[in-house]
Order: sequence, then C-alpha cells, then structure tokens
Amino acid sequence: MTIDLGLLRHNVALLVDRAAGAESMAVVKADGYGHGAVPIARAALEAGATWLGSCSLDEALALRAAGITAPILSWLDVAGADLSAAVEAGIDVAVSDVDQLRGLRGARLHLKVDTGLCRNGCPPARWAELVRAAAASNNEVYAVWSHLACADEPGHPSIDLQAKRFDDAYHAALAAGVTPRRHLANSAATLNRPDLHFDMVRLGIAMYGLNPLAQREDLRPIMSFRSSVALVKRVAAGESVSYGQSWTAERDTTLALVPVGYADGIPRLLSNRMEVLVGGVRRPQRGRVCMDQIVVDCGDDPVALGDEVVLFGSGEHGEPTATEWAETIGTIDYEIVTGMHRPRLARRYVR
Ligand SMILES: *Cc1c(COP(=O)(O)O)cnc(C)c1O
Repeated sequence: MTIDLGLLRHNVALLVDRAAGAESMAVVKADGYGHGAVPIARAALEAGATWLGSCSLDEALALRAAGITAPILSWLDVAGADLSAAVEAGIDVAVSDVDQLRGLRGARLHLKVDTGLCRNGCPPARWAELVRAAAASNNEVYAVWSHLACADEPGHPSIDLQAKRFDDAYHAALAAGVTPRRHLANSAATLNRPDLHFDMVRLGIAMYGLNPLAQREDLRPIMSFRSSVALVKRVAAGESVSYGQSWTAERDTTLALVPVGYADGIPRLLSNRMEVLVGGVRRPQRGRVCMDQIVVDCGDDPVALGDEVVLFGSGEHGEPTATEWAETIGTIDYEIVTGMHRPRLARRYVR
C-alpha cells in the first residue's frame, strides 16, 4: 500500500484555495480514512489546513501523543467518556446534549445542531436550552456547527433547508449572548457551495483525492494498492479456478497468482468482476477472491514471478481506481479506502 503525501498536499492546497479565506479542518477520523492519521495530519497541516477533526477522543489523543499541536475537534464520544482528558490535552469538544456539559469545565465547545441529518446533533426543539446551558457553564462556546445529509447531490432541497435551520440556530445562539464561529461544509459543500463555507470547512474524502461530486476537479487519489506476482502457471482449456470453480478457462491460458485477498481489503463481491494492471495491461481476475490470494488471467502474454501488480491507484496509468471498485459492487469509495486498514498491509509513504 502506497500513500502519496505529495498528492495529498496537492489536494489540500486546492481545497484550501477553494475554501477562500475560511479555515480548513483536515478530517482524519478512522485512521485518516484508512491512510494513517498521523502522517496525513502532518502533511495536511503543511499544505495549509489549520485544524484537525477526529471522531473519538482516543483518535484525538493519539494525534497529540504524536506531537501535533494544531487545534483538534473530537466529535463523537460515548456517554460518560472522560472529557476532562480532552480539556487537559487542549482538544475541543463537540456537544449535542445538555447532559454532556455535566461536570465539564474549561473546555472549548462546538455546539452541534441537528439540521436534518437526524444523527448526531441537538434537535432544534432543544437547541435554545442547550445554548443557554453552555453559555452559563464554565466553558467557552467557540462554535456552532452541523453536518449536511446530501451535499454530494447539488440542488437537493435538503441543503437549503439545512442551511436555513443552521442560520436559525446561529441566531438563537446570538440571542443567548454568545458570538460563536460557524462550520457546516464537508468536502462536497466546500467544492460547490461557497455560500456555506462560513468560518471553517471540514475536508474529508476530497483531501484523499476522491471526488464526491460528478463535476470534474483536479483531485488525485493518494492511495494505491500494489502487490506482485507470486506464481505463474499455464493451465489447459477446461480447468476451473478457485473455490467453487466459478470460472472455467475456455482456452489454454497463463494464470498469475497474486498474494492478496479479502483479508487485505479486496471485497469478495469483486470476484470475477475486477481487473488489475500487470505489465501495464489490464487483466481480468478469475474465480473467487480468497482470503489471501487472487488469480489473474494473462492469456498468452509473458508474465514473470515478481512482476508488479497494481490493484488500484490514481487511474493515471490505466489502472482501476477505488471508485471503480465501489461502483462495481454498489458502494462508495469511502468504504473501499477505509476498508484497506489492515494490520498486515504495510503502508509506504512517498512524498
Ligand atoms: C466525515 C465527516 C466530514 C468529512 O466528510 P467528507 O464527505 O469526507 O468530506 C465532515 N464533517 C463531519 C462531521 C464528518 O463526520
């Protein structure tokens, strides 16, 4: 697994530019979407991001333990999590409910309002109470924020409705005597809704080079997944490949064995539906994807032990992309790259 931090910096610089004056938070939850949170965080900060976002306090503390001093927001902790550890480490805390304020002091708060995602966030009916309680607490109300449900579907009516509810929540906060900053936009809204940038944008998938929108953007996927040929063999017409023998050779052919499988993040649903690049040429994978190996059909072409195999990458050399895998099996590329977080896949970082 190769992670290109040079391309990450390219993507972040492009997004920081598009954020046009708003601050940029690099979202590194789920171990940096499967790319490795600490190296991604460092490179994103070098390229102009000024904040980091993580899902849990543990993820945020790991960034601090690595010596990263940039502001961090951690937004989804289990009930009863020790938020005083966040305060001690200078990590901002997201609050969606009055109960989370109990016993909390000295924290910098980002009050989250649910404007229509119905997931995390305070429902509008309880917002005034939350703002009042936070303003009266021994904490600083630093920001109000929310998250969009359909930012990747430009023109979806929920976007404007969420923006309106967000504005109402902001004004309710002003009425309660606080003057918080605001943040709402994810990658998609950063790219296509400049009116929703407010004081900060939260950059996720686009920073990793995957485009959440149909419009063309100069984003470069930073993860590539490579292996090499572990065995080559000639098989006769009529032989079948892998468990269940789901593919049978129609003519004599050369098969290359590649020592990666579903334990390394290749969805088994891709069986007989994926291609890989060997010797610069796309070749079909045959039979079922196994736990540790796949078989590739090289026809009559010469292929040798140790030849490089590109499973997915930026697509610039004709190789498949994580997005292509996702589309083949009906999921999103977010799930593909975060699913590549596997203990036995060594990550190599290049600049
Ligand atoms: C994951 C996440 C983001 C980033 O979303 P992308 O679609 O990857 O840009 C932003 N904000 C919150 C609250 C998130 O959970």
